[in-house]
Amino acid sequence: MTILEHHSLLPYNTFGLEAKARYFVEVASIEELREVLNNERLKGMPRFILGGGSNILLTKDFDGLVIKNSLNGIETIKEDDDHVWLKCGSGEAWHSLVLHTIELGLSGIENLSLIPGQMGAAPMQNIGAYGVELEAVFESLEAVDMNTGEVRVFTKDECLFGYRESVFKTTLKGQYCIVSVTMRLNKLPKFNISYGDIKRTLDDMRIWEPTVKAVSDAVIKIRQSKLPDPKVLGNSGSFFKNPEIPKAQFDALQAYYPLIPNFPLPNEMVKVPAGWLIEQCGWKGKRVGNTGSHSQQALVLVNYGGATGAEIYQLALDIQASVKEKFGITIVPEVNVV
Ligand SMILES: Cc1cc2nc3c(=O)[nH]c(=O)nc-3n(C[C@H](O)[C@H](O)[C@H](O)COP(=O)(O)OP(=O)(O)OC[C@H]3O[C@@H](n4cnc5c(N)ncnc54)[C@H](O)[C@@H]3O)c2cc1C
Repeated sequence: MTILEHHSLLPYNTFGLEAKARYFVEVASIEELREVLNNERLKGMPRFILGGGSNILLTKDFDGLVIKNSLNGIETIKEDDDHVWLKCGSGEAWHSLVLHTIELGLSGIENLSLIPGQMGAAPMQNIGAYGVELEAVFESLEAVDMNTGEVRVFTKDECLFGYRESVFKTTLKGQYCIVSVTMRLNKLPKFNISYGDIKRTLDDMRIWEPTVKAVSDAVIKIRQSKLPDPKVLGNSGSFFKNPEIPKAQFDALQAYYPLIPNFPLPNEMVKVPAGWLIEQCGWKGKRVGNTGSHSQQALVLVNYGGATGAEIYQLALDIQASVKEKFGITIVPEVNVV
């Protein structure tokens, strides 16, 4: 285990931003993690767990310790007639894991194909796509308390999952390093293909009786056609969350904007696509210096090359302010600003 100093984070974030970590260390086991947490020289300084770097915006150098997660391993811990419980190291690459479960003939996370990043970050924000969120298959996780080094098990209820939310993004932010996640996957597929273009894409692929692999292939196809590839154009996926507003506020807006898209929620709330709001404010496809809002996905902010994190953050603030001014809605980042 080597502790590096002034280490460049450029290869470790999908926005493709240059920022340096004062200290940087890669850990491959709980013992190594504990060793780092107990290191006298590194004690007391700000710490940050780095996964695949696909949900962070580095706005400056990090004057502390970056812990790169490489805790790998996949294990079947339980099985019954209908389900298999897989315990996965938090450093496992998410998409490879999805493909692995498909090879094992299991279903449950195929709609989440091609989401970048690692297993450990998936419960952080309860990743979701095409009508499925991680919580649907989540059983429990193990996390190391960064102050005591103790391992704590979190049940689903304790994670307080919400839309791109969990307790690890709110009250317990920065306190735990997630080291493993157990998912309960289905032996018999339960397809969820009514959302977005999945059904139409399967039809285009001339697949009338879908398999788990076919659904995954369809999702991959859709995502590749809609989202910019971070290897080509730096980005972090959706920059903002879709806001949820009270129905009364929505009704008032709809009177002015009859075409406003909406998804009614329980509790008299309505979800409005942030991309639509941003587009209405004239940001879609707009370039500002080396950054901008993507031409096909207003919600995705991109680095055209040479952008700084501060530049992208300023763009995000400007977009946020114009949405607030036009619609009276505050959109909040999904991306973790560092
Ligand atoms: C092109 C593209 C498409 C995307 N599409 C989607 C999508 O459809 N749905 C979706 O939900 N997300 C999407 N994302 C966002 C992103 O991929 C997910 O949020 C992913 O789970 C982030 O994983 P990561 O390992 O890269 O996390 P990182 O960016 O490394 O970290 C994110 C946050 O989690 C913390 N963290 C990471 N690992 C741990 C750990 N082991 N323990 C404690 N804290 C940890 C970090 O400190 C940080 O605060 C997309 C991103 C891109 C670039």
